[in-house]
Amino acid sequence: MLLSMRVEVLPGIGPKYQKLLQNLNIYTVYDLIYHFPFRYDDFSTVTKISDLTENQLVTICAIILDVKNIYTKNKKKLTIATVQDETAQIDVIWFNQHYLSQKLKKGKKYNFSGKTGLYGNKLNFISPTFELYKDNSLNTGRLVPIYNETKGISSKWLRARINDVLPRLNTHEELKEFIPQNLIEKRNLIGIKDALTTIHFPENLTQVDQARKRLGYNELFLELLKVQTQKNKWQNDYEGIHLDKNKTDSQIQFFVKSLPFELTKTQQNALNQIFKDLNTKFPMNRMLEGDVGSGKTIVAIICAYLCSLNGYKTLYMAPTEILANQHYNTFCNFLKEIDIKLKTSSNNTQDITKDKNDIIIGTHALLHEKQNLKNVGLVIIDEQHRFGVNQRAKLLEMGTKEKKPNLLTMTATPIPRTLALTIYGDLDISVLDSVPNKDKKITTKVIPETQRDKIFEWIKKKGEQAFIVCPFITESEHEQFENVKAAQEEYKKLTNGIFKNISVGLLHGKLKPEEKQQVMNDFKNKKYQILISTPVIEVGVDIPEATIIVIESAERYGLASLHQLRGRVGRGVKEGFCFIFMSNFSKTAYNRLKNLENIDNGLKLAEIDLQYRGQGDIFGVEQHGFKNFKIADLSDLEFVEEVKQDVEEYVNTQPSISNITMTSIFN
Ligand code: ADP
Ligand code: MG
Repeated sequence: MLLSMRVEVLPGIGPKYQKLLQNLNIYTVYDLIYHFPFRYDDFSTVTKISDLTENQLVTICAIILDVKNIYTKNKKKLTIATVQDETAQIDVIWFNQHYLSQKLKKGKKYNFSGKTGLYGNKLNFISPTFELYKDNSLNTGRLVPIYNETKGISSKWLRARINDVLPRLNTHEELKEFIPQNLIEKRNLIGIKDALTTIHFPENLTQVDQARKRLGYNELFLELLKVQTQKNKWQNDYEGIHLDKNKTDSQIQFFVKSLPFELTKTQQNALNQIFKDLNTKFPMNRMLEGDVGSGKTIVAIICAYLCSLNGYKTLYMAPTEILANQHYNTFCNFLKEIDIKLKTSSNNTQDITKDKNDIIIGTHALLHEKQNLKNVGLVIIDEQHRFGVNQRAKLLEMGTKEKKPNLLTMTATPIPRTLALTIYGDLDISVLDSVPNKDKKITTKVIPETQRDKIFEWIKKKGEQAFIVCPFITESEHEQFENVKAAQEEYKKLTNGIFKNISVGLLHGKLKPEEKQQVMNDFKNKKYQILISTPVIEVGVDIPEATIIVIESAERYGLASLHQLRGRVGRGVKEGFCFIFMSNFSKTAYNRLKNLENIDNGLKLAEIDLQYRGQGDIFGVEQHGFKNFKIADLSDLEFVEEVKQDVEEYVNTQPSISNITMTSIFN
């Protein structure tokens, strides 16, 4: 199959180009065809020279009468071609490209596409693209596709290669239709060959829309099919450890009654959904999603308690050691009669294999535990987006051969509807959509740079505890050196400057776990008024006395992340404040950030982010390979829902869906 062959098989692509193409992630013919234009130059208007006016974007078709290179008085190098069509003559001018005079052949007919302009008070054609006149031109006289380029590879070059290979695919039966005919008709889709041809060389913008719709449909269809297959597999291939709620009902009820608060309606709903899952044949695979402070922990505690009462172990994994410690304390406080163990790199001496129905709290390193953990009935992962797909597979090595532990993942990262259907489509989702005890809002302000000192003075005067979150320099799941450096610099600057006489702490991911814990404890115990930190504090940290958070370079974060960050403050009785600074001002970024001032709902903010920044910035998208979504627009809920519906219809009518996958279609 030509499509799966390496690009070197194509004429005009030798070792040099093959190497350069790798910079664009193009390795195979398939990759080349799926390197779509990101825009089109509209050179489709062909005009007679006599009709030209100033500042038009057009194409003319004319014969070259004369070409000459000249130097102007102020030493500019010009190439001037005088050209003529049936109506008039005009001069075409290029700057600093004297070699063009060799390329342009007198007496030949060319297309020139570009802009008209005045030079020396005369109407000219300035620096147009040109090519020898043909009936079917690639680079002029049409909507011209513009691609992501790399050094040594221009759009023009890509155009020519893609134009060479497209017709060959048509003859090769390479692109068999794989979407069922009835769905193609139902959704008014054009054929796949048409779509691939017109996305590169459309005649008009309507064709572009149709091609994008079709190709986006493909991407979504295949992804949703994969997700659906995964979900079916989970339910068919594995048996879950049965955790019976009825048997332990009285104890659970007693426990819930003894809590210092009443569970909210949404907490109860989530618990009921979980109890139901635990009562089915296959293992639970549920995500509990809820804003910061919505009370996920107590839900987790009740589940762990249930597991323990049924005679099984629970593993609870937090994203950082700080949080593991914090949750260990919380679990101990609530569950006095259950044996609870802490297992982190700095607390590593306990034998966690011995007991049967204990609760083990740790970081995700627990997953790689060498000791063979039998009897695990429930695995709880806090902040799911910190865990990769592969790690999830690790879970399946636990439990017994026949029976697998139940999985509850928890996240404060809101999951927009479209992502819930696609990326997280293999999970069941429960949402905690209310925050108990929430009567105070966190006052949020986007602060212009000129007000910076004023704000810092205000913080100093107010005398309450504050976080200063430093530039998020590399967007990474792990702490990068650059982030650490930025925090260290800020620390130096502020402790020598405005906060000279104030106690300031510094926290970053390159500290040893004990050191981190020490800094956090010191902050909690009010040894510091101010804590300068890298974005490591993002998740879950509970310092009730901290009321202020300053976020630097906020334009680099998604709104949902910022919302999570500000959730660090105002957890106690006092009002919270969040000040947002930008390091690179742009009106768009400013407007986006302004949403934080009056929207207090994580999910709403995430949906807005999806509109502003696209799907790439939503946590978890990258991990799930959704970078491969080139066309599909995950902010288009209606379309995603349509495709979902189609996939379900398709799966229901197929005896076996395993024979249609991305790989079997294209390779
Ligand atoms: P998150 O969802 O961010 O993990 P937590 O579980 O840490 O939130 O809960 C935040 C705080 O709210 C905790 O102090 C917890 O004890 C408290 N809380 C949880 N559920 C309720 C409730 N139903 N009523 C009142 N307070 C609650
Ligand atoms: Mg939490």
